[in-house]
Amino acid sequence: MTTRLRIFAAALIFACLALTASVHAAKPNILLIVGDDMGYSDVGFHGCKDIPTPNLDALAASGVRFTNGYVSGPYCSPTRAGLMTGRYQTRFGHEFNPGANQGLPLTEKTIADRLKAAGYITGCVGKWHLGSLPEMHPQKRGFDEFFGFLGGAHSYFDAGGILRGTEPVKELDYTTDAFGREAVSFIERHKAGPWFLYLAFNAVHTPMHATDDRLAKFPNVADKQRRTYNAMMLAMDEAIGRVRKKLADAGLEQNTLVTFISDNGGPTMPGVTVNGSRNDPLRGSKRTTLEGGIRVPFVVSWPDRVKPGVFQQPAIQLDLHVTALAAAGVDVKPEWKLDGVNLLPFLSGEKSGAPHAALYWRFGEQMAIRAGDYKLVRYDSNADTRTGARKQPVTAAKLYNLAADIGETKDLAAEQPDKLKKLQAKWDVWNATLVPPLWGGGKTDSDGREPGAPTKGKRRKNQSK
Ligand code: CA
Repeated sequence: MTTRLRIFAAALIFACLALTASVHAAKPNILLIVGDDMGYSDVGFHGCKDIPTPNLDALAASGVRFTNGYVSGPYCSPTRAGLMTGRYQTRFGHEFNPGANQGLPLTEKTIADRLKAAGYITGCVGKWHLGSLPEMHPQKRGFDEFFGFLGGAHSYFDAGGILRGTEPVKELDYTTDAFGREAVSFIERHKAGPWFLYLAFNAVHTPMHATDDRLAKFPNVADKQRRTYNAMMLAMDEAIGRVRKKLADAGLEQNTLVTFISDNGGPTMPGVTVNGSRNDPLRGSKRTTLEGGIRVPFVVSWPDRVKPGVFQQPAIQLDLHVTALAAAGVDVKPEWKLDGVNLLPFLSGEKSGAPHAALYWRFGEQMAIRAGDYKLVRYDSNADTRTGARKQPVTAAKLYNLAADIGETKDLAAEQPDKLKKLQAKWDVWNATLVPPLWGGGKTDSDGREPGAPTKGKRRKNQSK
């Protein structure tokens, strides 16, 4: 071999090694998708029959479906605060939906802050609901880009009040379609990556607005509210399908961590603005600490690293924060005091058992703790009435074995007083680490609406065709 050839060969080997190293070191893109007020049973992968959700089903099939996936609150903003911070929101007073001059405390860092510091381009599309004050805008909370609205609910048609960055824009598309469009655009513009996108739909939260073409796909659904709900779910599923197609077309499908949750359970009981959702076989509703309020559709997909399957142990949306940081190679600092757990070793089989010794909830006087199969809960007594007439704020403590009784029908409190005591003591220890709520009492179904933002848009026929 001549010297020149030797140098060439060495250079070639070096180049190959460098390329291999860079491929292995490529940080994954991260896409957190959140649905709003979805029923537990309203996706195909939970057996839903009257709403086709092929794109959510394909996402679930591409990754891990959690049968005991929870959110840390039964309401929109608290859950989103938990996801954004990786901490129980009751640790920093974000127990209820914020009012006009309230939002995610500025003492808290968001996942966007952390991923941006790790070199990610960060985007937020959809519903923010973590404060409308200028200093609480997504672009002040770690996001490079924002398209959406700041409050808790919004019209889906002729949507004034939609912002691109801080500039109001007149959005002509049905907003669920618009959020899908903007997510696709974000991925296209930043496909060189790594990027982080928080795609937070307001579908299927009220107001109940659907496009005519989608309503026409459900001629046999007699209940008008359910029919509209189905059409709104279909729109969200289609938007997710367009985003997944974009990932595939851009060659990013394998190395993108995609997660999906609903921010809370379906609102089904008197006292909340119901939307036609269904939580069966779970009992309870949005605004309750029964399973129907806090157990949600929950998916983690990362084809390069996570083998498809089903995960049965309890997990919570706080974990998605820490899992995303782990995927991005961010070292979690103890002083961040995160409550979430990196799920990746559990999904790979490197670790077995439950990620958490227990999961906890506090929502005003309502509470819950889940440890193993057992759950201790004090819930909104409205869930036990048909009228919504409230006799007492919360029930006595009830004990359920969820493995045997997913519907929380058989109270074991009298049978197993020691178990009850133990769980109560464990919850008391956790509760002592929390702070009082910064605002509100959770007594009303405040949607956290922006002052003056319309919720009743004019409907334009077939506009999304
Ligand atoms: Ca919600």
